[in-house]
Amino acid sequence: MSTFKAPKGTYDLIPPVSVKYLAVREAISAPLRNSGYGYIETPGFEDVGLFARGVGESTDIVSKEMYAFETKGGDQLALRPEGTASVLRAALEASLHKQGNLPVKLWYSGSYYRYERPQKGRYRHFSQVGAEAIGAEDPALDAELIILADQAYRSLGLRNFRILLNSLGDKECRPVYREALQNFLRGLDLDAETIRRAEINPLRVLDDKRVDVQKQLVGAPMLRDYLCDACKAYHEEVRALITAAGVAFEDDEKLVRGLDYYTRTTFEFVHDGLGSQSAVGGGGRYDGLSEMIGGPALPSVGWALGVDRTVLALEAEGVELDIPAATSVFAVALGDEARRVLFGKVTELRRAGIAADFSYGGKGLKGAMKDANRSGARFAVVAGERDLAEGVVQLKDMEAGEQTPVALADLVEVVKTRLA
Ligand code: ATP
Ligand code: MG
Repeated sequence: MSTFKAPKGTYDLIPPVSVKYLAVREAISAPLRNSGYGYIETPGFEDVGLFARGVGESTDIVSKEMYAFETKGGDQLALRPEGTASVLRAALEASLHKQGNLPVKLWYSGSYYRYERPQKGRYRHFSQVGAEAIGAEDPALDAELIILADQAYRSLGLRNFRILLNSLGDKECRPVYREALQNFLRGLDLDAETIRRAEINPLRVLDDKRVDVQKQLVGAPMLRDYLCDACKAYHEEVRALITAAGVAFEDDEKLVRGLDYYTRTTFEFVHDGLGSQSAVGGGGRYDGLSEMIGGPALPSVGWALGVDRTVLALEAEGVELDIPAATSVFAVALGDEARRVLFGKVTELRRAGIAADFSYGGKGLKGAMKDANRSGARFAVVAGERDLAEGVVQLKDMEAGEQTPVALADLVEVVKTRLA
C-alpha cells in the first residue's frame, strides 16, 4: 500500500464495481440519446463568477461548498459544483441558440466537486449525468425530461423511487409570494442563520429539514395559492402530459431545491432506501438563468441525476444489473511456441470483434486456467506443443466443461459461430 490515500470525501471506482457505474451512465444517457439530445462536454473548472451568478451567492453550493482558487496567472476559477451553468455558458459561447433550432437539447456526464461533510451518498467528488433543453418554453419539454428520467431509472430496474413535483412560479408571481412568505417568517422564532436566509432566499427555509423549524412552518403561505394564471396553466399542462405517459408523481408544495435559478416546474427524484441522502436526482425550469449570466432570454429546463446515489439505490433494492462478462475467450498457452501462436490468435479474435484475453506472465496450466475462470470467459483456448504439431488448439467450453480440438485456421470462425 502506498502512503497516499484518496482525499477525504472521495473514493475510487475500481473493478469489478466500476462496471456498475459505466452501466448506470449508459442507462441514464440512453433515453436522452434516443430523444434528440446531443452530447456536450465542458471543462472541469470555470470562472468562479459563472457559478456565483448562475447558481447564486446565497446558495450552499456557492457560499459553502465550492472549490474556488486563484491560478498562477491570477484567474479566479472554481471546480464545477454542477453542470447547468457551464452547459448554458458553452451553448451561448458557441451561439447554438442563434441557429434557429431551438430548443437546443444537450446531455452530459462528468465529475462534480463540492466541499461537503462526507457521509454515505454525499461526497466531495461525485458524478452526474444531466440533460438541458435550452431556449423553449413548452410544457411538453418539461414533461419529456421527467418521462426520460423515469424511463432511465426503470430501465435499470429501480422501482422504489418517487417523483416530487412543484411549480416555483415566475417573475410575475414569485416576488409577491416571496414577500408574503417573508412576512410570515419574520413572525417565527428562528436562529440567526435561518433569519438571514429568510431575508436572502426565503423559499429555501421551507426546505429546512429540522423538525422544530418544520413545526413552525405549519400555516405558512403556499406558493400554489399565489401562482399567476399563466404559471398555473403551464403547470397543469406538465402534470397532464406526465400523467398521460403513465408516470406517477406526487405534488410537493414544499419542494424548492437548492439552486437560485429555478422557475416554474421543479422536481426531484427521491429513493426511499437511501436514508437522509434520499435525492437521486433533480431538476427544473430555469427561465432566468441565461440573462443572469449575460445572455439573451432563453427559457430552459433540465435535470441532473447522481450516478453515485443511483448505484446506492440499486444496491438498496438488491437490483443486480445484467452485465455481460467482459471477456469471451481466454487463451492459455503452454510453451514458447504456443505463446507466439496463441498471442497471434488473440489479436485476430480481437480484430474480429470478439473480446479476448491472454494468460500473461508465463504461468503454468493450473494458474492460467484460474485466470481463465476469473475472466468470466465463455471459452478457453488451450494449446501446447503437441496441439500445435497437429495444427489444432483445444477449445474448452467453460460452462459445459467439455473440450474439443479445433483446427487453428478455423478458430476465429468456430468461436464466432458458437458465441452467436
Ligand atoms: P442534496 O439535497 O442531497 O444536497 P442537491 O439538491 O444539492 O442534493 P443537486 O444539486 O440537485 O443536488 O444535484 C443533483 C443530484 O446530484 C442529487 O440528486 C444527487 O443525486 C447528486 N449529488 C449532489 N450532491 C452530491 C454529493 N455531494 N455527493 C453525491 N451525490 C451528489
Ligand atoms: Mg446539496
